[in-house]
Amino acid sequence: MNNDIDKILEKEAFSKEELIRLLSSNETERKLLYRKASEVKAEHVGKIVYYRGLVEFSNICGKNCHYCGIRRDNRELKRYNLGDMEILKAVEFAYENKYASVVLQSGELESKGFTDRIEKLLREIKRISNNELGITISLGEQTKDVYQRWFDAGAHRYLLRIESSNPVLYKKIHPDDTRHDFSRRMECLETLKDIGYQTGTGIMVGLPFQTIEDLAGDIMFMKNFDIDMVGLGPYIEHRDTPMFKYRNLLLPPADRFQLALKVIALLRIIMKDINIAAATAMQAIDPMGREKALMVGANVIMPNITPGKYRDSYKLYENKPCTDEEAEDCSSCLEARIHMAGDEIGYGKRGDSRHFQKRTLQ
Ligand code: SAH
Ligand code: SF4
Repeated sequence: MNNDIDKILEKEAFSKEELIRLLSSNETERKLLYRKASEVKAEHVGKIVYYRGLVEFSNICGKNCHYCGIRRDNRELKRYNLGDMEILKAVEFAYENKYASVVLQSGELESKGFTDRIEKLLREIKRISNNELGITISLGEQTKDVYQRWFDAGAHRYLLRIESSNPVLYKKIHPDDTRHDFSRRMECLETLKDIGYQTGTGIMVGLPFQTIEDLAGDIMFMKNFDIDMVGLGPYIEHRDTPMFKYRNLLLPPADRFQLALKVIALLRIIMKDINIAAATAMQAIDPMGREKALMVGANVIMPNITPGKYRDSYKLYENKPCTDEEAEDCSSCLEARIHMAGDEIGYGKRGDSRHFQKRTLQ
């Protein structure tokens, strides 16, 4: 059996069947996959981790995704919206601590007030950081005009997960209405790429009804779309969501975690020079989850710099780690953990996607 995996890993490209075989690898076999991914990482992006200070600035959301703890219809949590000064203070913390990039993320709102506010904030972030900070935004589906305005104001990376590239599964995990339409999500991703963003997407691994074939399809989708960045992690059930009722269908958390590691490793091997984030959800299942992701190909970590008092309310899923800490408390423990994983931290370096740089030079 080992030989079989060995042989596949020697190939330049994988067929869907081969991807399925690799995703199904057993405990011994998967070590070969992880080793290969680690080698590709060292060769193509180096053993460096880039930081993106993550500000989850509001949990107010107009959408109702069936899996998400901050969905519109969940009345079991306190809604918050950070003030501009609080956001900028968090951003300053990132800048002063040489994080070199920030991510602004929130629930999804489509309104003139929201668009204007973000535009102003982006300009302000650029101003207070002498144009130095890299800015990723993850603010859901918007019109082309809105994406363009935010790009012009200084955002240059956008994260919009496809969640699942199988339209049938996508439909199952979202309400059946125009606000949650698969084709709109795809169009948004195309638009982001056309505008010139470094475009990131991702999926949840281990969703109810999701098959290994689906995951192989997701990997092929990301390759064919030629994404620049990925953020992916295991699906983690949340009791105040409609999908909680399917929890009996889920793989045990440890298996979901390994499956997510395999997807990360495969994306590193196949796409080589993209940026891959070790998502917080990895750590929700395994205390060393993010470090393990770094060892199989991830090269970006998003330390949470949201003021501590709000963190408990940005619960997309349960068991979210570090919700009772302040940004400063996290940095030294994180640094030690990254060194343990054998990587250096790219302090002061923006760490833009090499894939994007090559793609746009052509
Ligand atoms: N509202 C924006 C950004 C915030 S949600 C958007 O939806 O794009 C960011 C990501 O959190 C989502 O893309 C989804 O993949 C992830 N997420 C939501 N609920 C989750 C859950 N229960 N388990 C794991 N990840 C989840
Ligand atoms: Fe809102 Fe994003 Fe959660 Fe969907 S995944 S409910 S858009 S925050």
